[in-house]
Amino acid sequence: MLSRTTLDRRSVVSGLAILASAAVAGSRSALAQAGASAPVAAGAPLPIVATFSILADFIAQVGGDRLALTSLVQAGADAHVYSPTPADARALVASRLIFINGLGFEGWVNRLIKSSATKATVVTATRSIVPLKAESKGGGHAHAGHDHGESDPHAWQSVANAKIYVANIEAALVAADPASAEIYRANARAYTGKLDALDAELRASIARIPTDRRKVITSHDAFQYFEKAYGISFISPRGVSTSAEPSPQAVGRIIRQIKAEKIPAVFLENISDQRLIQRIAQETGARVGGTLYSDALTPAGGPAPNYIAMMQHNMRQIVGALAVA
Ligand SMILES: [Zn+2]
Repeated sequence: MLSRTTLDRRSVVSGLAILASAAVAGSRSALAQAGASAPVAAGAPLPIVATFSILADFIAQVGGDRLALTSLVQAGADAHVYSPTPADARALVASRLIFINGLGFEGWVNRLIKSSATKATVVTATRSIVPLKAESKGGGHAHAGHDHGESDPHAWQSVANAKIYVANIEAALVAADPASAEIYRANARAYTGKLDALDAELRASIARIPTDRRKVITSHDAFQYFEKAYGISFISPRGVSTSAEPSPQAVGRIIRQIKAEKIPAVFLENISDQRLIQRIAQETGARVGGTLYSDALTPAGGPAPNYIAMMQHNMRQIVGALAVA
């Protein structure tokens, strides 16, 4: 049987081959008109690409209707193991700015940018955030052929970091489109105020959970920043990427830990295979506390259509499972 990792790598390779030919085919039309030097007509929305839905939401909050915004990885999808499409390459070529998370999150993006030959400016939205180290999970993180870097990429999981994303986005939009600078500045200011309120709300919610119950199990290590900011311990059998299965030893260790420490709840994630967590719940008697949204938003109408709703939803699920009734 092919491992998931092998399948992913094969699809990335074939995806890049398609991209290369798409970029060549498109070079006579769209490519000729686009690129960083091409002026955007006054009043026309600025073409912008973000790699994933959470980052796209931050950008939309700052840019509003001044932007024509494309997210490469859609809501509900996993950006760790994404396979780019020819349409993605065309979006990069037509864009003025490409926002990436960085810290090794989008392992596929540098090759995509290179093969698309875009002239857009690439902005790393986590710039100046102090990254947490990725915890090694013995098989979950360090594996042959993939380099996820040393850092934990899920920096948006603390609201203090979200404010840094917003400041970086504001600076990049102001530089690219100075005529609308006042709009970007006002939007960033208003949204940062909402983030401050969110941070206070999350801290007040945590206070309802007894200290000895502030522990949850999730399927991959996406919540270290949340843990550090809000004081909930997240334990997972898999490393910071979803691209490899956890080792049986890592799963066994977690099962023993849940039993020994009487950890009350395990959580599903929207982007991860749910069977592993279901199995851990069965073997330990811990209850499944609900679904947490770690790396992607939900489509509109779901419980996490934007960043603030996502953080509120996650905290409600955690408090619901851990606070003593
Ligand atoms: Zn992740």
